[in-house]
Amino acid sequence: MITPVSLTMDESFFKRLHDHLFPGDRDEHGAVIAAGIVETLRGTRLLARELFIARDGVDYVPGKRGYRALTAQFVAEQSDYCAAQNLCYLAVHCHGGTDEVGFSGDDFASHIRGYPALLDITGGGPVGALVLAQRSVAGDIWSKDGRFELHHTTVIGPSVRTLYPNPRPRPRHADPVFDRHARLFGDLGQEILSNLKVGIIGLGGGGSLINEWLSRLGVGHIVAIDFDHMDLSNLPRIVGATRLDAMFWLTSRRSEWIQNLGRRFARRKVHVAQRVARRANPAIRYDAIVGNILDEPTARLLADVDFLFLASDSIQSRLVFNALVHQYLIPGVQIGAKVPVVQKTGAVGDAFVATRPVLPYAGAGCLSCHELIPASYLQDEALNEAERKAQRYVEYEDIAEPSVITLNVLSAAQAVNDMVMLFTGLYHDGVRLPHQIHFVRERLLTEVDSMSDEFCVDCSNTVLSRRGRGDRARLPCRE
Ligand SMILES: [Zn+2]
Ligand SMILES: [Zn+2]
Repeated sequence: MITPVSLTMDESFFKRLHDHLFPGDRDEHGAVIAAGIVETLRGTRLLARELFIARDGVDYVPGKRGYRALTAQFVAEQSDYCAAQNLCYLAVHCHGGTDEVGFSGDDFASHIRGYPALLDITGGGPVGALVLAQRSVAGDIWSKDGRFELHHTTVIGPSVRTLYPNPRPRPRHADPVFDRHARLFGDLGQEILSNLKVGIIGLGGGGSLINEWLSRLGVGHIVAIDFDHMDLSNLPRIVGATRLDAMFWLTSRRSEWIQNLGRRFARRKVHVAQRVARRANPAIRYDAIVGNILDEPTARLLADVDFLFLASDSIQSRLVFNALVHQYLIPGVQIGAKVPVVQKTGAVGDAFVATRPVLPYAGAGCLSCHELIPASYLQDEALNEAERKAQRYVEYEDIAEPSVITLNVLSAAQAVNDMVMLFTGLYHDGVRLPHQIHFVRERLLTEVDSMSDEFCVDCSNTVLSRRGRGDRARLPCRE
């Protein structure tokens, strides 16, 4: 296992656990968490998927050695379930206190007695224990590679909070460059932004705005993914792009052959974005990935980001993005603009821009639940060129959609604002983050009620869903 080891859970999961452990009686209570696992170069993430409450006096009883313990039967049932589902088994109980918590000698003794066998039973686990106080979490995680302390726990809600076993040192003073931010976010907020790793899928019009703003906000690490080259027609929308990037001296020629040559040598959009980001923040870490998230190795580069933007408008990329959010418990947001035009007359229909936060809550609704990933479109996109020609799609192929920088700004700005507010904890408690649709011709901003499908393969907790399974599930990428 790669350290640090962390645990991620969504806010409603945390609330259910917290309500059970701290009903106000100052007594000890217990539970088991079934968790997925992700191993990345940045560390190992455990992903809380299912919560099994231990009933007081039935499953959590006075212990022979310690004060209270889970019954052997409860442990057997839950660990069997975890083994069958290929999930990690984490036993949970609570102690008194608020900002500081640790295991007792009895706790550690019981881990040493029980966990080697449990590791065998669950086929290598990992297995382990958590102990919670009101605002702190400690963990003792056992794997085939040894024994690890849980470094921190992240709770994803309208604010993304991090809980530690001990009080944290005061944050360092923000760089004077960020003085005006720090007055809003605090030194801690600015430090949180500088420690974030954020993914951007698609560095066209919308993505290039997000890229510029994240860099100026002081986000520490960006992973940008796009396979496309710059084109002359992108110049009015892509931040920081030049005519030279688009090879205008070739692509503006009459000869189609020279134009194609120019297109091939035009700079990649991710490399324009990287240049923009470095100019805005020379200290930034930047991964410019020429690739497509429809390829699983490329998509998995995003498994350890803290937040994910989808700014590419293919339905297939929505499918993979939606899966990433739920399989790896990464909050994200999809942005897009749609300007329908009647081809025959050129009449412009109801143009709108959309900002759609997708939070990794169980059953909270996702892009799939909102019918934004229609299967018929997926099939159309998956057809190769010859097949599309055969189906007479070719006549539409050269018709590009309208796109304007000020429309992209409307959705991109809300999306980046959502990310900043989430991580700096500035949203009021209980703020909802519904999809926003801005109908630009009516100058009307609307919200979409949440829809959720109880059998969704992405966001539900049914046995078939990928939610919280991390590395132990496949992404819906192309073969
Ligand atoms: Zn204890
Ligand atoms: Zn769903």
